[in-house]
Amino acid sequence: MSNEQGRRARIVIAGGGIAGLSLALALKQALGADFSVVLADPALAGAPRADNRAYAVAAGARAMLETLGVWEAVAATSQPMTEMVISDSRTKDAVRPVFLTFDGEVEPGQPFAHMVENAGLVAGLKAACEQAGVELRATGVRRFATQEGSVEIVFGDDSRMASLLLVAADGARSKLREQAGIGWVGWGYGQSGIVATVGHERPHHGRAVEHFLPSGPFAILPLADGGRLGHRSSIVWSERTGNVPALLSLDNEDMLTEIETRFGLELGEIALESAVSAYPLAFGVARRFVDDRFALLGDAAHLIHPIAGQGLNLGLKDVAALAETIVDAARLGLDPGALDVLEGYEKARRFDTVAMGAMTDGLNRLFSNDATPLRLARDLGLGLVDRLPGLKRFLIREAAGLAGTPPRLLRGEAL
Ligand SMILES: Cc1cc2nc3c(=O)[nH]c(=O)nc-3n(C[C@H](O)[C@H](O)[C@H](O)COP(=O)(O)OP(=O)(O)OC[C@H]3O[C@@H](n4cnc5c(N)ncnc54)[C@H](O)[C@@H]3O)c2cc1C
Repeated sequence: MSNEQGRRARIVIAGGGIAGLSLALALKQALGADFSVVLADPALAGAPRADNRAYAVAAGARAMLETLGVWEAVAATSQPMTEMVISDSRTKDAVRPVFLTFDGEVEPGQPFAHMVENAGLVAGLKAACEQAGVELRATGVRRFATQEGSVEIVFGDDSRMASLLLVAADGARSKLREQAGIGWVGWGYGQSGIVATVGHERPHHGRAVEHFLPSGPFAILPLADGGRLGHRSSIVWSERTGNVPALLSLDNEDMLTEIETRFGLELGEIALESAVSAYPLAFGVARRFVDDRFALLGDAAHLIHPIAGQGLNLGLKDVAALAETIVDAARLGLDPGALDVLEGYEKARRFDTVAMGAMTDGLNRLFSNDATPLRLARDLGLGLVDRLPGLKRFLIREAAGLAGTPPRLLRGEAL
């Protein structure tokens, strides 16, 4: 067993998903050589897991990735989302009336989101972390114990390290959150998100479409051109979990027929461009985001329905807020792992997280339902929003992560 207690490991981040990698990079870039940043994740060993998700990265999160120098790596393969259309219909309805349209610009020339594919973003972040001098360790954090002035961390390979702070970015089923004794309030939706990349004949012109079908929302999200048919979109199809095993066992042709019924015919012929995978959908928020020398980040702190494409964006807002809290404290000579410092981060993120969680939970309940009075009420509501430009502008700024006073990185300013 090696003991590395003597090393100056200032901050350890457990979890090399997009949230953990982004935080490691932001900290290392801002604090430089006198601060060592360690990121540990067993998934760093070997080839990255196949993950065909694509994310609607909001304008604020994109500004942060640009400031961190990562946006360049994904810009060429990203797709600006220039319009968002919402329709409410039954699966077999031939005509899907449009109830709400957003022209997706926060400011002229600045779309409210870009679609970015998971693999490119993770690879870009990893390369930037390596270049910046983040220590990447291909092992997990097994356990930790808080002591006076530090936290003692034991890794999966039995090595140990003392750190000022442990950040748990280990995903929604965070074992470290459990070890810290932090409770989780949450429930499952009985829905899964079926994800695939679909090729199509006609261009999408940057338009995202969300059909609210009785089993849940079916989103068609524009990807950069490519594939056999020239154009591509990512679908996120929320389906009752009980139906998912039978759907996933379909052969390609039958699966394509099922997708076509929901996708519609507007974009011409369609083809499958990736494997089809499913993610169980649930809601949850940690009872606290911080403890002494311990902070939760990303899905480890909150899990929301992908109905509004905001889960990762919430995680990236956490990154901006926690990085700012740590860097400002370190520059003032304060201890960045001290509870009163970390409480600043919790305060900055708690309200936004709970509000977004409640909004996505409410939307999903309202729309995953075929009862006629509910359909009428929601269609009336969508029609009203569509006629109120002020409210639409507010919703666009909310979705872009630019409402209120965002942390510096989300405004595109360096720390
Ligand atoms: C179908 C679907 C579509 C979505 N679409 C969008 C979208 O359009 N926009 C959006 O903003 N969000 C979207 N999301 C949400 C988004 O995918 C998640 O919020 C995001 O991936 C979470 O990132 P993370 O870094 O917090 O956690 P994760 O990606 O879960 O990473 C956690 C990491 O921790 C590691 N780990 C686990 N245990 C340990 C340990 N003990 N020590 C060290 N490492 C450990 C794991 O190996 C893993 O790499 C979607 C989600 C789904 C399911």
